[in-house]
Amino acid sequence: MGAAPPPSSSTTHTPKPPLNPFLLLLLSSFPLLSLAAFVPADNYLLACGATAPVDAADGRLFLPDPPLSSPSLSPSPPPPLFRSARLFPHPSSYSFPLSPSSSSVGLVLRLYFLPFPHPSFNLSSALFSVSVAGSPLLHRFSPPPSPLLKEFFLKPPIASHFQLLLSFSPSSFAFVNAIELFSAPANLFPDDATPLPLSPPSPAPLLSHHSLETLLRINVGGPTVTPANDTLWRTWNPDSPFLTTPSLAKVASFTGQINYPDGGATRESAPETVYGTARQMNRGNSSNSSSPSPAFNISWVFPVSNSVNGYLLRLHFCDIVSKALNDLYFDVYINGYAAYKDLDLSAMAGFMLASPYYMDFVVMNSSNSGSIRVSVGPSGRSLPSKVNAILNGVEIMKIRGVVPFPREEKRNKYLAIVLVSVLGSLFLISVLIVLIVVMLRCRRPKNERPASQEAVTWSPLPVFTGSSYSRLTELTNASPVLNLRLKIPFSEILLATNNFDENSQIGSGGFGKVYKGVLRGGTKVAVKRGVRGSKQGLGEFQTEIVVLSKIRHRHLVSLIGYCEERSEMILVYEFMEKGPLRDHLYGLSHPFLSWKQRLEICIGSARGLHYLHTGSAQGIIHRDVKSSNILLDENYAAKVADFGLSKLGSQISQTHVSTGVKGSFGYLDPEYFKTQQLTDKSDVYSFGVVLLEVLCARPVIDQSLPWEQVNLAEWAMLWQKKGQLGQVIDPSLKGKIDHRSLGKFGETVDKCLAQYGIDRPTMGDVLWNLECVLQLHEKAMHGERFGDGTNGSLDVASLNVRQDPSISETAERENSIAEAEKGNLEVTTGKGFSQQFTGDSR
Ligand code: ADP
Repeated sequence: MGAAPPPSSSTTHTPKPPLNPFLLLLLSSFPLLSLAAFVPADNYLLACGATAPVDAADGRLFLPDPPLSSPSLSPSPPPPLFRSARLFPHPSSYSFPLSPSSSSVGLVLRLYFLPFPHPSFNLSSALFSVSVAGSPLLHRFSPPPSPLLKEFFLKPPIASHFQLLLSFSPSSFAFVNAIELFSAPANLFPDDATPLPLSPPSPAPLLSHHSLETLLRINVGGPTVTPANDTLWRTWNPDSPFLTTPSLAKVASFTGQINYPDGGATRESAPETVYGTARQMNRGNSSNSSSPSPAFNISWVFPVSNSVNGYLLRLHFCDIVSKALNDLYFDVYINGYAAYKDLDLSAMAGFMLASPYYMDFVVMNSSNSGSIRVSVGPSGRSLPSKVNAILNGVEIMKIRGVVPFPREEKRNKYLAIVLVSVLGSLFLISVLIVLIVVMLRCRRPKNERPASQEAVTWSPLPVFTGSSYSRLTELTNASPVLNLRLKIPFSEILLATNNFDENSQIGSGGFGKVYKGVLRGGTKVAVKRGVRGSKQGLGEFQTEIVVLSKIRHRHLVSLIGYCEERSEMILVYEFMEKGPLRDHLYGLSHPFLSWKQRLEICIGSARGLHYLHTGSAQGIIHRDVKSSNILLDENYAAKVADFGLSKLGSQISQTHVSTGVKGSFGYLDPEYFKTQQLTDKSDVYSFGVVLLEVLCARPVIDQSLPWEQVNLAEWAMLWQKKGQLGQVIDPSLKGKIDHRSLGKFGETVDKCLAQYGIDRPTMGDVLWNLECVLQLHEKAMHGERFGDGTNGSLDVASLNVRQDPSISETAERENSIAEAEKGNLEVTTGKGFSQQFTGDSR
């Protein structure tokens, strides 16, 4: 291994590294690397021109490259690896044989340069190029006077030999102080990342096609991390030079264990020392320190070069500031674009605190601003007492070889070419479609129902145009379970969301970002864009399509369509104007909901869940019932959303043990947690917790409260058992709930939260009880009086649910919409109602 001077300027010499004794010495140095869990398949460390091994002070020894006829130089002491150099008077190359794994995962290449003073050579006058496999890494490069480390991540496929060529004009020469070349960890960088801005003038580059060159690597809120403390021997620098207003941020540091999640960030993404420090909002120093919810961002400005057209920006996060899961929500901005709203790190990083998570963006240098600005700031979902935002690390890489988009005068010409080709292709596609449609019509079996009969009224069918039709037929065999009628072309999604305009983003969740959009016909939709390439996401995506396309109910959020073109996973739902119920109960700015409105919302949600459990032929268990999965339309009518975790009931036998418990903390049925046996009674338990959230208007887990109050269900049930639930209700409801209505409500919650599923009511029972609660409240509001029933002892049978026309009408309407098809007319009369909803589950 090593470098050799060419015998002449026209030839290059390739040494045979495996036979080189220096290489053996080099490999035997690995046991020194106590911290390095990562062991590259190939690992070449050369101290060029040195006469003895050089200790890099990070646990590694760099070996002298083999004695060569080209001069070696030794300067006075700069850092160890810069103290010698190999000088090349003729164009030369290094050749390193690679193991097959390096060829497929890629390589990390580091080149060290320092033109130190030397009596015989003026290294500062060197001007040369360095290239790999014919493409230049450094072009007409003259090393600056201070130590410089150039780092590259070279993408596979790479040939079985890695050739590093140093070339220059006859009057010049090249030199290098040290070379590191080692196999990159698999999947260190993604093949693709979210582009910003989302509609740049030129398409965002696919990362899998480009090599990366490191520009900046920053340990936010912490000191310099030296190569000895990083499993990939990287240096991470402090962020203070880039912080715009230091007084707005304060350092957070964590000495506990960093929990690297399964399948997520690893020590190779960034070391514990980076994830263990962060900057967070310095709320004490905000301009208005008396404000309970200061609204400001922390910003960093990183200088970049205008001559580079695309950068990979990696942001590292690790929630080392929260005391409990789901405490921290914040927004992330890049160059002023809302890159991520309502980021909930606990949901992204394996439901653990102190668990690392990183995000990648391709930042297109379309504005030529010469900098990348990163900001983090509070989210509208934060509780006032928990407003915060953090950042732990930043990496910026140049994406090499991205061709700049033609600007100014060239641009019109380019547009004209694009327009002509698009119009030409459209014409061809239209002709093709007509042909295909004619052919299909001729071939359609006689007993098949015409499409118009199957299409539902809000169907997005008009958007099935152009090429998607041929994809439809193509996919029929590939994914038979998906409802292909709901497929929406990506072009329509782009149109509906204005190219995923950041102003259209309304939230983000476990699946990805959520945008508001308007389809061509004017239908408002919520567009959920899944994180591309995530396996977990793909499963949820398909479950959601299969489950949702089967069921229609006015208290369930309807799936309008989906899109899976270009490896996108996009779900399109009816738009719920007033958003999640949770945001109306507590949070930064929640409007007041009356007790009646709250009960109607609970009743609507109970209907949705009841329909899921019993209305569908198979029976569906939601598995993630919570107040953020109950959405409200413009009239505050409730619909249950998010079936990503749903399981079809028939697939779960009585003895079924599912592979993992899914659900959200604070809502999870303890019996399901213990036994992992899932039944519809788990949804009943979670719904009971939602009922308490509605009554008490506080989060289900709130670590900032005294320990006995942290868990809402435990705390409220303590008071319910004492018959004093009224002590812990939302203060804004005090004096506004009839005590019988409250008593019946508390009794219903108590039953939902029974320890064993068998003792809990069905959703049908819950629905009926909530109807009673509403009636009791309304009658009290109208001045009517009932007997002396105390909490929980009111004889609800004395209430005639038929007396209130609004309830029976609702029930009948409900029935006709949801159940008519199945002849399951369960809510048609008062008698039928009570028969249906009493005691049939236990
Ligand atoms: P999670 O995975 O946390 O349940 P989602 O991905 O379902 O979150 O949704 C995230 C946010 O997007 C919600 O909190 C809500 O604000 C918004 N959202 C989701 N679906 C809709 C919809 N159909 N209409 C309006 N807003 C929605």
